[in-house]
Amino acid sequence: MNKNNKLLNIEDLRVYYVMSSGSVKAVDRVNLDIGKNEVVALVGESGCGKSTLAYSILRIIPYPGRIIDGKIYFNNIDITALPEEEMRKKIRWRNISMIFQGAMNSLNPVMKIKDQLMEAIIYHEDAIDDVEGAYLRAIDLIKRVGLDPSRVLESYPHELSGGMKQRVVIAMSLLLNPKLVIADEPTTALDVTTQANILELLRDIQKEVGISILLITHDLPVVAEIADRVFVMYAGKIIEHADIYSIFKEPQHPYTDGLISSVPSLVEGKLKKLKIMKGEPPDLINPPSGCRFHPRCPYKMDICEKEEPPPVTIKEGHVVNCWLHVKR
Ligand code: SF4
Repeated sequence: MNKNNKLLNIEDLRVYYVMSSGSVKAVDRVNLDIGKNEVVALVGESGCGKSTLAYSILRIIPYPGRIIDGKIYFNNIDITALPEEEMRKKIRWRNISMIFQGAMNSLNPVMKIKDQLMEAIIYHEDAIDDVEGAYLRAIDLIKRVGLDPSRVLESYPHELSGGMKQRVVIAMSLLLNPKLVIADEPTTALDVTTQANILELLRDIQKEVGISILLITHDLPVVAEIADRVFVMYAGKIIEHADIYSIFKEPQHPYTDGLISSVPSLVEGKLKKLKIMKGEPPDLINPPSGCRFHPRCPYKMDICEKEEPPPVTIKEGHVVNCWLHVKR
């Protein structure tokens, strides 16, 4: 039973890729929640399970991945138990949409933007007879993402800049007025100025339309721009979560601290010396025992190798899984 009034509530979720050589434990007992009108960031190195978690929410985990255990509540409905038909008709795109990583490069190169948008509208709205309605809706969507319909709708993707294509992709994610948009690395491959513009657009849309956003990224400066709360993921587990201020100013987990210290920043006009985090993320078929971060952790104690650290509440809304914070 969902214990709170959140838009999305993930409880004890395990998603494994089951293979003959062993199971890749991509998401392992993860808890995460997103409130209404909230921007939550999921941060971690590539391969830590972030995208698998996103695919689980939409129930589009690539084979041989599957949900092994746990629940995902959306508006108090357990969507792990919904028949596929209901998932397709009621949840996917209609309530939860996704901006896929690299999606701007998968726009159809031989179709005008107008036709791609209208085709999607007609398909999803089941409105084969309402071509004019679909066209008006395409105009509206393109305006909503800050583009000029007369310039963009008659263009082919190659006639648009990277930033414009990403705006079109964002427009597509808003097609059915979803309540939650999952944005997987939405600013990758864009220059710094365009990145900032896209983040500002996402934030504006979130405020105007009142949607929630799950932002998936390895890029902490992106998080600082837009998120209300941050969940830090390492090797298939959430190891810390807190509001944006606490994560940046008072990180409690050595991994979060390492991530933040590896972001270049100016201190008194000089570029701060970066701490480089040693080691590689672990193999998720045979993850390290105890705390999965122990092979890379400068503060490792004996217990860290033996037992998994329990969650410790530092203050309301700030939780960390690390033996350094467990009173023993
Ligand atoms: Fe480091 Fe131990 Fe904390 Fe893991 S539990 S982060 S190994 S101190």
